[in-house]
Amino acid sequence: MIVVVTGTGTAVGKTWWTAAVITCLRATGKIVAARKPAQSFDRSDTHPNDADVLAIATSEDPLTVCPLHRSYPLAMAPPMAADALGLPIFTISDLVAEVAPNPNAEIMFVEGAGGPHSPLACDGDTVDLARELRAGIVVLVSDPGLGSINAVRCSADTLNGFPLLVALNHFDETDRLHVANRLWMEQAGFEIFVTPASLASRLID
Ligand SMILES: [Mg+2]
Repeated sequence: MIVVVTGTGTAVGKTWWTAAVITCLRATGKIVAARKPAQSFDRSDTHPNDADVLAIATSEDPLTVCPLHRSYPLAMAPPMAADALGLPIFTISDLVAEVAPNPNAEIMFVEGAGGPHSPLACDGDTVDLARELRAGIVVLVSDPGLGSINAVRCSADTLNGFPLLVALNHFDETDRLHVANRLWMEQAGFEIFVTPASLASRLID
């Protein structure tokens, strides 16, 4: 099964959640792979990039997680970074064709870049990627605070048709706003997760 991971925006915790859920799944004996079809980052940032973090979680080679030529050292959406760096343009189909297979993996996580409608290639975004990959589930990572209900609802509208699981990053059960937002979203029909372990359990039940 392919699980596509997106977020209500950039830097909402997609990679952290993906790595944490992978760690939980591998602890139960599941064989799990992760792919980041294209990534971009600030070249002065000394933190590990997304492919590095995911590769540590799955024990794969970072260059299997994200091919070297799809790793853009410029903090713009990947197709915009490629253009600004004078590198060739690429399509969603190019990215799909480059997703390295792992026949042993029971679950393969594929992390997009930014939010569902952020540019991921010259002709599409993470919604298009999920469609071309025939994702079985989409995980949407969101902040749990002010504005999160709107952000989750708008993102969910773009992902209509995919089974959707919503992960609230940095959820604090002593925060009344977080608790109220979670309850509101659950009552609106969203499947909400506040710990990687609970999301991992849901993915294998
Ligand atoms: Mg990330």
